[in-house]
Amino acid sequence: MSIVTPEALVWPPRTDADRADELAKLLRAEYPDSSGRYGPFGGRFVPETLMPAITRLEREAAIALNDMAFLSQLESEGRSWIGRETPLMHARTLSKLWGISLYFKREDLAHTGAHKINNALGQVLLAKRLGVKRIIAETGAGQHGVATAAACARVGFPCRVYMGAVDVERQAPNVQRMKWLGAEVFPVESGDRTLRAAIDEALRDWVADPMNTHYLLGSAVGPHPFPLLVRTFQSIVGRESRAQMLESVGRLPDAVFACVGGGSNAIGMFHPFLADSSVRLFGVEAGGTGDAAGQHSATITHGRPGVLHGCYSYLLQDSAGQVGDTHSVSAGLDYPGIGPEHSFLHAIQRVSYITALDAQALDAVRDCCRNEGILPALEPSHALAAIKQWAKSNQGTTVLLNLCGRGDKDMPILMRNM
Ligand SMILES: *Cc1c(COP(=O)(O)O)cnc(C)c1O
Repeated sequence: MSIVTPEALVWPPRTDADRADELAKLLRAEYPDSSGRYGPFGGRFVPETLMPAITRLEREAAIALNDMAFLSQLESEGRSWIGRETPLMHARTLSKLWGISLYFKREDLAHTGAHKINNALGQVLLAKRLGVKRIIAETGAGQHGVATAAACARVGFPCRVYMGAVDVERQAPNVQRMKWLGAEVFPVESGDRTLRAAIDEALRDWVADPMNTHYLLGSAVGPHPFPLLVRTFQSIVGRESRAQMLESVGRLPDAVFACVGGGSNAIGMFHPFLADSSVRLFGVEAGGTGDAAGQHSATITHGRPGVLHGCYSYLLQDSAGQVGDTHSVSAGLDYPGIGPEHSFLHAIQRVSYITALDAQALDAVRDCCRNEGILPALEPSHALAAIKQWAKSNQGTTVLLNLCGRGDKDMPILMRNM
């Protein structure tokens, strides 16, 4: 016997009016609902032992985000320590070459070299109010580990970062950076000895002592309220961009592009533009080397809904429901899941999810270096590659890119591939 839920009757919304209705619920903050759902996506699939810590986090976050003292501390640390606001830059030469007006939001200039610090700082300041004694995090390539270690040093928290043993070897400079910033780097020898094993180990740690530990999730994924929290801390990117476009260009962009791994830089950029119906939004996934399973990390393009790391969202999986293998030249996009709000925005067709291949991203790195004097990270280079394609049939448009990280971290892989 199948159970028909009210959601199943209306989901996915089939008409433009229904889709507009669902978007309106998100904009009125009726999503995420009290169970953490965006339509059917999201929720919290966690062991019962974590529920007290998660409900405390949800309650304290709601209070903090309405507290002037917290918000002004966030603003002041953002300004003096991260370097906000980051500039909006006209990409003059690429604009001419590609026949569009192209603007970069320079998150690559943020402290530690990417947008991740916005979320790390926000959550560490919040952790102070929770009264926890320590912070834990997990990291793949090490970027989230470095941002977390830096924020913990700044605010004054002991910090442990779980990292697969394979990644510890591959990412030696970031491991050293984390250690200098005072973090304990814990190599994980179990499972696949990479990011997935590190996440499992971090969860195990959290379950052991949830009330004294804050698990600092690095992307807009995981159980509610993490996707909402991360979006809230990253939305500074979209809010600044929108105001900067109006102020210095005098109009909103026709299209906004961002790369999508777990989805934090993209949701932070997109969210303040969701109500602007004239602005088209594009999330760019890692197309890797091709469409076959294991060759890419294009979760929405090739996946289907399932549960991973505490929430229901699109997911790369095989026919038996096992999590699929992934590949991307960029470590930050190499993840089989995606945040639940992106699955929702895909289902209501507010955001288009497309892909760029490894080779196209590497070409975009070259384009950006030579023409704009900026070495971009491989992740946003996927979005830049997608812009180059899109521009061919959209000449004369105004386009905004979230240039969410700098490429210095990618030097070893760039030297092998370029
Ligand atoms: C980690 C990272 C990403 C991917 O994470 P999102 O949560 O999808 O933003 C993208 N770009 C850079 C530069 C990163 O460091």
